[in-house]
Amino acid sequence: MDFRLSEQQQEYQTAARALARTEFAPHAAAYDRTHAFPRRNFDLLAQHGYLGMTLPERYGGRDADYLSYTLCVEAFSEACATTGVIFEVHNSLHSEAVYNHGTDEQRQRFLPPLCRGERLGAYALTEPNAGSDAAAIATTAARVEGGWRLNGRKVFITNGGEADEYLVYASSDPDRGSRGITCFIVAKGTPGLSFGPPLEKLGIRASATTDVILEDVFVPDDRVLGTVHEGYKIALQTLHGGRIGIAAQAVGILQASLDHAARAVLAQDSSGQKPADRQLVQRHLAEIATELDAARLLLYRAAWLHAQGIRATKEISMAKLFASRVAMDGTLRAAELLGGRGYESGSLPERLWRDAKITEIYEGTSEVQRLVVARAVLGEYQ
Ligand SMILES: Cc1cc2nc3c(=O)[nH]c(=O)nc-3n(C[C@H](O)[C@H](O)[C@H](O)COP(=O)(O)OP(=O)(O)OC[C@H]3O[C@@H](n4cnc5c(N)ncnc54)[C@H](O)[C@@H]3O)c2cc1C
Repeated sequence: MDFRLSEQQQEYQTAARALARTEFAPHAAAYDRTHAFPRRNFDLLAQHGYLGMTLPERYGGRDADYLSYTLCVEAFSEACATTGVIFEVHNSLHSEAVYNHGTDEQRQRFLPPLCRGERLGAYALTEPNAGSDAAAIATTAARVEGGWRLNGRKVFITNGGEADEYLVYASSDPDRGSRGITCFIVAKGTPGLSFGPPLEKLGIRASATTDVILEDVFVPDDRVLGTVHEGYKIALQTLHGGRIGIAAQAVGILQASLDHAARAVLAQDSSGQKPADRQLVQRHLAEIATELDAARLLLYRAAWLHAQGIRATKEISMAKLFASRVAMDGTLRAAELLGGRGYESGSLPERLWRDAKITEIYEGTSEVQRLVVARAVLGEYQ
């Protein structure tokens, strides 16, 4: 077993960290404070070739392997968790789904502008009564001449209002439940499509999260992604890459937290002492560092399996479940190590702690990941 990154993976990691540290980290606190969507960061990701990076070059991608992409999500999230999720949703949840399920005509039409950053993508599955139980969606798609007419409301949509293209999942045959859901590529500006105001959130505050409202939205047949009535499979398959991305976001956040805490406790206080000299402080750092490494190993294994095309539903859920839990726990401990300074609004430990929480919720809550893992484990014994 070889735990080293390949030369190419190291190059991606080094370049992504350099961009993140020089361009994203210095502005992260301001985005958190103002909640302004970081369009500048998205443009920089495009200029540096990170958008659609796992896609083939003929569509504007870079043919990068999934672990290289994972290292980039981690590096960007370490500097700015908001930028991490915007990047992750655009790449994993939108562009990769279009590539994996689109016709060649759709790939040629939609992917190059997504890779160039001319179009931003979103993924719209969740509804007021369909979150963990995504099959319960009530948005409808009625067959009409030349296409479909969509009605319904999606909630909590990342990049909402900012994105140009939305993968909207709607019930095309309500009698068939999850076997009657179709995925549509809906463009911003389509008559009947509108957005709620951005949600005020605990963390990742500058990633626009809005309702997406569909009122008699006409979508032509050439904007149906994949097979009619088989959209639910697309939604779930797409979450495989997505959950790897969120685990990477959690690892990046925890790395930033450990870096900050370790440096802070090494600094002398006014009496000339260093908190790092206290063994109980060292204990926390040792535990955070160990959990961070364990999360990273689970993450890289999941990304590697995914890259090989090996079914890794259990391993991906394990990585997300564990990485998000230790990110939550570790960022809290890291903030506590700084005493009152870690509780101050706008301080880095406080922001990282707030940003960590969402990794336990979106793209399947931790309870949902536990159900996925338990199902797989029980299946191994039946
Ligand atoms: C900031 C943010 C961004 C988001 N971005 C997107 C996006 O881009 N696109 C999108 O489609 N969605 C998005 N979501 C939605 C997100 O994926 C859902 O919030 C999440 O899946 C949980 O669904 P819910 O909020 O309806 O909670 P519910 O499903 O109602 O769950 C409530 C609680 O019940 C628990 N629970 C539910 N079912 C079970 C069960 N069977 N067993 C045990 N416990 C259970 C859950 O773990 C949770 O604790 C986003 C959410 C947020 C907050």
